[in-house]
Amino acid sequence: MTGNLFGTTGIRKVYGTEFDLSMALKLGKSLGTYLGEGTVVLARDARTTGPMVEDALAAGILSTGINVVKAGMIPTPTLAFITRLHGYNAGLMVTASHNPPQYTGIKFWGQDSMGYTPDMEREIERIYTEEEFQVAKWNELGEEQTTETAVNEHIEAILGQVDSKIIESKGYNIIVDPGNGSGSVLTPYLMRRLACKVISMNSQPDGHFPGRVSEPDKESLADLIKMVRDTGADLGIAHDGDADRVVFVTEKGEVIRGDRTIALLSREELKRSKNKPIVTTVDSSRVVDETVENSGGKTIRTPVGDIQVALKMRETGAAFGGEAAGVFIFSEFHNAPEPFVTICRILELMASTGKSFGELISEIPVYPLRKAKVKCENEKKSAAMQTLAKSLPERMEDVAEVITVDGIGISLKAGCVLVRPSGTEPVIRITCEAPTDKQVEKILANAKVEVERAIGNL
Ligand code: MG
Repeated sequence: MTGNLFGTTGIRKVYGTEFDLSMALKLGKSLGTYLGEGTVVLARDARTTGPMVEDALAAGILSTGINVVKAGMIPTPTLAFITRLHGYNAGLMVTASHNPPQYTGIKFWGQDSMGYTPDMEREIERIYTEEEFQVAKWNELGEEQTTETAVNEHIEAILGQVDSKIIESKGYNIIVDPGNGSGSVLTPYLMRRLACKVISMNSQPDGHFPGRVSEPDKESLADLIKMVRDTGADLGIAHDGDADRVVFVTEKGEVIRGDRTIALLSREELKRSKNKPIVTTVDSSRVVDETVENSGGKTIRTPVGDIQVALKMRETGAAFGGEAAGVFIFSEFHNAPEPFVTICRILELMASTGKSFGELISEIPVYPLRKAKVKCENEKKSAAMQTLAKSLPERMEDVAEVITVDGIGISLKAGCVLVRPSGTEPVIRITCEAPTDKQVEKILANAKVEVERAIGNL
């Protein structure tokens, strides 16, 4: 963990109380100082605070003698993609992802389209705190330019990755719901390029998020589900505010968890890249491991966060990985989440098999999942987790494997349990999965007793 500034993915704060423009200005100076020279590309999502925060960041960067290219309101993956495409020294995305509208934030991307690692963030924060900034003289300031080609460059590259012909031949009916976020400027147009008939909803970018809350889930996607059913569409597609996530809705109106989609696509990716592992976070369903194993592959688990997946993919040479929340990474394309290639892969699969998305995903079992949280003061979390590292595996029955990359994950003969301290709330979270409702209830009850006891004994 870094200091106060950075969270799991970049900076995410409430504007006005936790974050103000002076911080953005200083962060711009910090990044410029960190880089020393070169050019930074800046972009933003649809939040009301975006243009202003972007300008403050730009001012800070320019003051250190580093150039700035402004790419406007685009998806986060597009920013990461053009950072690498043009060899910019860094990419800054002004976004608070799927958080409520009063939030703002900044994600940092490297020249290789990889998110900044916790080490790099720590270094930025050190410079920020010590305030020893690089200062350019009046005649050595950075220069500012704008680009309006980012989305088109990204779309062309995506189309270069997929079998457009086979998708075009089907003329699919697609409903796109970007949730008033920055996905509005890309996904509907990409679908049209693939000869799909597109209806888009909530697709005027608006930082008040008038259409729905930004996080795409079963509740927030009620309108999309209805629209898919009412129009008889082939597929529903939803993004979060900065469109680094994608969630799919079947032709029947079923919202599909991202880990099942990872499992489905893993089968295809393993055909393309034999012997390369599949990477996913500790909180993904065991259905990923099972599906990958049945296809002759191996799954590697990481702590939560898309940067953790990307780093592990680089370390292991994996070609495909993702997170249950709707993150998918194709390392041969680039190192950031790639929802748009994911959409194309699904359409390719539908087109090549002649099956609907609902038929395809029904081949991936869905296991009952139960969650609980137990109150635990932040100061007591680490002691509680230490106790649980020993006591929880003892308490559970039929333990097959204990995974401790992030929290305590225990694979059982049938099912699994994950216990993790929340990064944002004073609670410890318990997530259980098993083949049947009865089994999952029993696992949850067992784990909960043990977590409560560990906290109670402190
Ligand atoms: Mg996001």
